Amino acid sequence: MSNTKYKRIVLKVSGEALAGDQGFGINPEVVKVVANEIKSVHELGVQIAIVCGGGNIWRGVTGEQMGMERAQADYMGMMATVMNALALQDNLESIGVPTRVQTSIEMRQIAEPYIRRKAVRHLEKGRVVIFAGGTGNPYFSTDTTAALRAAEIDADVILMAKNNVDGVYSADPNTDETAVKFETLTHLDIINKGLQVMDSTASTLSMDNDIPLVVFNLNEPNNIKKVVEGANIGTTIEG
Ligand code: UDP
Repeated sequence: MSNTKYKRIVLKVSGEALAGDQGFGINPEVVKVVANEIKSVHELGVQIAIVCGGGNIWRGVTGEQMGMERAQADYMGMMATVMNALALQDNLESIGVPTRVQTSIEMRQIAEPYIRRKAVRHLEKGRVVIFAGGTGNPYFSTDTTAALRAAEIDADVILMAKNNVDGVYSADPNTDETAVKFETLTHLDIINKGLQVMDSTASTLSMDNDIPLVVFNLNEPNNIKKVVEGANIGTTIEG
């Protein structure tokens, strides 16, 4: 095993990251690229758990805006995360990376149910574990799922892979010229400054459980590997 900075990671892959430029749905080419990035980290001997988002297919808030009951719309969002997880699993397996998908809502025909101890065992055996279905509860997000699962499996870090943003900025760098990038922040900074990193439930859960977070650009080749090896890219949030 290589001497990496992090030995067990939770990688949060948002739905958006799998959609590519089209901004919605699953882009097979993009999933392939992401799978290859993950493979290169797997080859270092790092234990990898992935939390898939679903916003590229459906978000609960969208349903609510359309007049749906929020909880019902959120369950649709959780189902969307399963579709992304299966797409990622398929791509990883096709390039020789052993995987297991675990869902927080039982779907025994296509995935294992989420069992914490079993997930840890898979990681120890070198399998990439993909957590799908979010927390299994409406009104939560997959960012919160990432914080929750990271705490449960005692991960060293959460890697927040972003689409075309290379860290946390004081303002939106696409629209505000004065925006500056932060190299380091605390979880409390994120909450107090209202920075758009993850929702507040996810932030407080990460803070309370002392889980560091690295926010970085997934679209730059080798970035996951660089972060895992300890390169100073993106924004690190801890403390
Ligand atoms: N969701 C939920 N509970 C969870 C996780 C997700 O209800 O624990 C639903 C929620 O409707 C959310 C959707 O699933 O909008 C997709 O997840 P998210 O928005 O976190 O995906 P991402 O933005 O990462 O693609």
